[in-house]
Amino acid sequence: MTTNKKFLCSAGITHFTIFPSGDYKKCNWDWNYKTGTIGNLLQDKEIKFLSKDELVCPHNYKTVSAAVQQCYCKRNLQFDLNGNTANLFSKNNECIEKNITKVSDLSCKKATIELVLNTICNYNCPYCHNSPVKPTTNGNIKNTLIIVKKLFKQFDVLNFRLALTEPTLAVSFVPFVKFLYANKNKLNNLLVLTNMSKYKRVIKAAQLLKEKLTVCGSIHILENNFNPWHVIKLHKSLVRNECGISYHFIMHPLVEKYSTKYEEFFKFFGIKKVHKCEACGNNWRKVPSDFLPKSYSIVKLLSNEHK
Ligand code: SF4
Repeated sequence: MTTNKKFLCSAGITHFTIFPSGDYKKCNWDWNYKTGTIGNLLQDKEIKFLSKDELVCPHNYKTVSAAVQQCYCKRNLQFDLNGNTANLFSKNNECIEKNITKVSDLSCKKATIELVLNTICNYNCPYCHNSPVKPTTNGNIKNTLIIVKKLFKQFDVLNFRLALTEPTLAVSFVPFVKFLYANKNKLNNLLVLTNMSKYKRVIKAAQLLKEKLTVCGSIHILENNFNPWHVIKLHKSLVRNECGISYHFIMHPLVEKYSTKYEEFFKFFGIKKVHKCEACGNNWRKVPSDFLPKSYSIVKLLSNEHK
């Protein structure tokens, strides 16, 4: 599918990214602030919406790239410049405004929020594409709660997505989840992208939010601290609490040769599907070619035993 035309995007009315500083933008693709911020939710009373003219997508994608399909624009609706649905990416979109056909129909009562709780990670994957947003922070409970209280006051239905770096490390992660639990009548879904190292915190979220939580677990076997048992323990809890689940094996030339054994291991413990994803960083650090994942020997032993 290709297009050379500019189009409008619902980001800026139904989809925002909010940073720890309170700054918010219409799109999480551009987190170097190239398209500028709309406002600051620690200072503004509520989120301001962009006007129709400002909804033009700054990226002007000529093809529906992997990045667009996987992460970013699929949560937005696309329209042609007359404001009618352009249907460029809508087939697999996760947007909560699926029935909208005109930009003027966009509801200002439902929103999807990419909430950046922190900008640090405890892993050091050689392909990491998350160049940290400055200044580096592990978040702030008071500010996070000020921001989400304003959002719950303004919107009737909310989706949240916690991504970038490792959100479960943030000091505000657990208080944020507790706040969502206390206000779950307005919560549609919380999606957490995590490396699963802080799996106990995610289990706590699963126990509280149940089917309103979706976990997207990234498997990074090149990181020495990756522990496959954490994945198993988390998985059991997610199943028990009827949460949404998906797992992603982050691929790298050195991962390829080990991945089958890991897949067998996970399958034995009930994880039937692990998606293979391209690592999309463009500044890969060198890993010695004889590198052996720390967890490989036990994974190999168990998967061979259970064949
Ligand atoms: S877990 Fe994710 S954010 Fe952390 S170092 Fe690895 S790729 Fe980067």
